Amino acid sequence: RPDFFYKVDIVVIGAGQAGLSAAYYLKKAGIEPGKGFVVLDDEFAAGGAWQHRWDSLTLDNVNGINDLPGMGFSDAVDTTDTTLQANTAIPKYYELYEKKFELPIIRPIRVSEVTARNGRFMIHTNGIQFSARGLINATGTWKTPNCPKYPGWEKFKGRQLHTGEYINADEFVGKHVIVVGGGISAIQLLGEISQVTRTTWVTRKPVDFRKDEFTPDAGRAAVALVEKRVREGLPPNSVVSVTGLPLTPAIEKMLRDGVLDRKPMFKEITETGVRWEDGTTLDAAVIFWNTGFKHSLDHLAPLGLINDKGGIELSGRLATQVTKDPRIHLTGYGPSASTIGANRAGGAAARELIAYLKL
Ligand code: FAD
Repeated sequence: RPDFFYKVDIVVIGAGQAGLSAAYYLKKAGIEPGKGFVVLDDEFAAGGAWQHRWDSLTLDNVNGINDLPGMGFSDAVDTTDTTLQANTAIPKYYELYEKKFELPIIRPIRVSEVTARNGRFMIHTNGIQFSARGLINATGTWKTPNCPKYPGWEKFKGRQLHTGEYINADEFVGKHVIVVGGGISAIQLLGEISQVTRTTWVTRKPVDFRKDEFTPDAGRAAVALVEKRVREGLPPNSVVSVTGLPLTPAIEKMLRDGVLDRKPMFKEITETGVRWEDGTTLDAAVIFWNTGFKHSLDHLAPLGLINDKGGIELSGRLATQVTKDPRIHLTGYGPSASTIGANRAGGAAARELIAYLKL
């Protein structure tokens, strides 16, 4: 165990949308960068998870990137060019943002574990160790893919990959690809891959495509449902899973072309493909799991925040404050797991933590 810990009041873990927003508001409230707070991020460059998104995710097919506080996306990038790749445009925005506001971001540094001792948090990393009175966790989900292991998964001789490993469809040309999952990523990537090769789409439940327009009110109602869950200490479901999928022209075309001819979830994986409950089999070279992500919170395990419902009960104005230990805020989590949610959560967490710690 290291014996030197660099002391600050607040450590922010993660420098994606949620961490940057929190850092902005901490600095704005007069907390001194470097001495009062630091932001620890395990990436080599600015951009949070966005730098790892696939090339075909462009500004015209992301759902919409909300501005960080104090500097608009369009001040950093020509957002009228909707062909720009999200994996370069958003990192560029974050990089300029970090510079403009001189945020005290330390990278690359990975937080492996946070423990509590004598009223402080000890933040263990692969670099300098930190000690803080308060914590804003903003570690996102990208580092923890949710990849269910179906019976026989280890026997499969083909390739299995998760959304997070996807680069582009070229690598699948000539291969039969089974795409698993019913969310936005699954549908988008199925659309792309089906243009270059044979695909089979598999989901646990039929997908409900929404024909009505998605209004801001419907968005707020969806977020409110997730917020209610975390206030009750339940594990959050994703905001998107609550909003459903819009029936876009691209999806209508996929329906017409038979690409969205859904099969139920298979029972097991074989050496050469998959087998369903009724004994039907299908050979495939690739099983592509678009089965979502989990919140990256393993480093907080020593703090014992998870309750017997499997969730973390949150309170505070925007449900970011851990009820069991109000010195900890979770941002970009549950109801704030979107760029707009992360922005607001960063502000609420900074203000409430400053007040709680009487800084
Ligand atoms: P991230 O951007 O993931 O940032 C977390 C940072 O913490 C990363 O840099 C990570 O490396 C770092 N980190 C993680 N663990 C550690 C550790 N132990 N130690 C140190 N650093 C660590 N939202 C929208 O609003 N609009 C969209 O169009 C949209 N499209 C999306 C498309 C995809 C494919 C996905 C997966 C998500 C999308 N979202 C969208 C959701 C959105 O990306 C996030 O909710 C939002 O960007 C908030 O990011 P964040 O700061 O919580 O996490």
